[in-house]
Amino acid sequence: MRVGITYHEKFSQYDLGAAHPFKGDRFNNVMNLFKEQGLFRLPSVSLLKPELVTLRDLLRIHDKEYLDRIFRLAEENKPYDMETPVSPRILEAARLMVGGAIEAGKAIYDGRVDRAVALGGGFHHAGRDYGGGFCLFNDVAVLVEVLREEYAVKRLLILDYDVHFGNGTSDIYYSDPEVLFISLHQDPRTIYPGTGFVDEIGEGAGEGYNINVPLPPRTGDQTYLEALKQVFVPLAEEFKPEIILANGGSDAHFADRLGNLGLTVKGFFKLSGVIVDVAEGVCGGKLVLLPGSGYNPTVLPPCWYALTAGVVGLEKIGVTDPYAPPVEPGLVRQKVRKTVSELKRLLRKYWRSFR
Ligand SMILES: [Zn+2]
Repeated sequence: MRVGITYHEKFSQYDLGAAHPFKGDRFNNVMNLFKEQGLFRLPSVSLLKPELVTLRDLLRIHDKEYLDRIFRLAEENKPYDMETPVSPRILEAARLMVGGAIEAGKAIYDGRVDRAVALGGGFHHAGRDYGGGFCLFNDVAVLVEVLREEYAVKRLLILDYDVHFGNGTSDIYYSDPEVLFISLHQDPRTIYPGTGFVDEIGEGAGEGYNINVPLPPRTGDQTYLEALKQVFVPLAEEFKPEIILANGGSDAHFADRLGNLGLTVKGFFKLSGVIVDVAEGVCGGKLVLLPGSGYNPTVLPPCWYALTAGVVGLEKIGVTDPYAPPVEPGLVRQKVRKTVSELKRLLRKYWRSFR
């Protein structure tokens, strides 16, 4: 079993400013921890070097006008919106990260690796003709299109476990029945982008293929994993994708500064393990994991390490939480169970597993 990790030194140029929560030093910090933990000494692990995504590949998803606008903003050093700055250096890094996602998928389909981790990936707030929420290009969607158009992949499952709802990815595939989008995220009434409710189930031919599991603030490991096993596991088994793409960094951690969910480092390790087990069971292990988010620099590296260690198939990890995890409030589990029942009721007619 071989795992490829895509990384480029220039990822650190994706630094959105001194006062901005998205800092470029995350990549160096993560790579240092990976080295310290001996990840690259494992014979199964190799480093893959991404290339700049081409305009042609970006056009598989994004509108020409939108791309022109982003490239022009970069030249002029002007922000896309208040929280999403653009510059030549940021643009170069963004293009390398999309290139990383593509390289991860190609390495699997070219038979060079079995699974891959695309460091820095998961820009799920970008849609076809818009960006925002620190995102310019939707690397997950570009990867989907490369796999469909160049490798004839027919059915793909995207599991979005970022604390924020992946509105961009959801929009892109909202009426597409060949891409099953499942997102577990913090209750949109309490966090950006404010959408991603259970009743947003897709439309047209894609009705029933957009699955949202909103979770109350402070949802902890056990409840989170229970929801994952109730929704992601049976749907993946029923849908039978050819590959799973999973995105999310550390912002669902209890100490994250933007999110309010309650995952621990160990929880991320288990989450990653569940994803790997499902991929092994339904699609021969084909999996690209894209960890990019995280807004507490102390917990980001151990969480990304835990996620990656799961993909590598380690039995245990030598990193832990730097702080004691909080206790999940009493009502959270009941609320989540209610949400999952409601979701199953809404989706019953599309999925045998929910009958
Ligand atoms: Zn996020």
